[in-house]
Amino acid sequence: MQKKELITLIDKMCKELLLIIDEQEQEATMSQVANYLKESAELITTIEEEKMSLAGYAESLFHNAYEDIAKKSLASYKQTNTNIERLAELHESTLEQCSKTHIDIPNITNRFNEIQEHMTSEVMKANKVISQLTAQVHELEQKTNIDALTKIFNKRALMTYLDTLCNNKKHPFNFHLLVIDIDDFKKINDQYGHVAGDKVLIYIANILKKTLRDGDKVFRFGGEEFVVALNRIDDEHCLIATQRLLNLVRTNKLHYKNSTLQATISIGATKFIQGDTPDTLLSRADKALYVAKNNGKDQLHTETENGL
Ligand code: GH3
Ligand code: MG
Ligand code: MG
Repeated sequence: MQKKELITLIDKMCKELLLIIDEQEQEATMSQVANYLKESAELITTIEEEKMSLAGYAESLFHNAYEDIAKKSLASYKQTNTNIERLAELHESTLEQCSKTHIDIPNITNRFNEIQEHMTSEVMKANKVISQLTAQVHELEQKTNIDALTKIFNKRALMTYLDTLCNNKKHPFNFHLLVIDIDDFKKINDQYGHVAGDKVLIYIANILKKTLRDGDKVFRFGGEEFVVALNRIDDEHCLIATQRLLNLVRTNKLHYKNSTLQATISIGATKFIQGDTPDTLLSRADKALYVAKNNGKDQLHTETENGL
């Protein structure tokens, strides 16, 4: 290719480039035009020498290259503009938000007070519910101190009672404890059935309850065992009361369906000694009961340091 031809080609390319720029919606900036020229110079240097002779080839190469560059640059410019527009919008909305979130102390204080009032009333409601529940639990505890079958106090009530008694600074005066066990109860169950056995338990519990004075307490310790707490009774009267119990059970009969049920009881007795705990009291009475059973049942045995 001749120098003259190359100048003509470049001139043609320039015109085409201006045409492309004119076709674009946005006006090209100075830096963009400078960019096109720079790119075109680079393209010229990359054309291989031998291909320079092919004017047609060079022409199309320039033409395509410029068109591409022009379109790409303008497109990126357009994109940048759109992005800046978006950023501006974002900036504006952020500023707007900023002014909206401006700290409004009186309003916040009001809201805080409202929340606090709400919380206080909720706490009050919760406290009311708690005290109602506590009362219900107390009521239930009262109920669970009673044995479901015999309707006398149960073991739980006995332990509470003995705990209070033993922890009392005042020495319990003439306090006696009886552990009562129905003799051969298994035989009653076996012979007459479990329901009949239950009736015997209720029957014995009633005898114990009716025979004892106010202030004395009867507990079902478990199974066919009962505990009686006798207060303010001297040894002699305790012995009389215990013998009366043995006799009442021995001589009374329970009519159940077509059967006549009769039972006897064995009693282990003890008396409160300074320093006693529920355990020491119960185990001493239990030891006495064991002896009463071993000595032939239907009798009393006492186990105390000072004796009955
Ligand atoms: P002992 O004279 O040595 O006391 O003999 P026992 O048969 O009375 O004693 P044992 O411990 O051998 O049997 C007690 C029985 O009491 C066994 C058990 O099934 C029965 N029993 C425990 N609780 C209940 C109850 O609530 N109802 C009935 N019907 N029977 C019960
Ligand atoms: Mg027993
Ligand atoms: Mg028994």
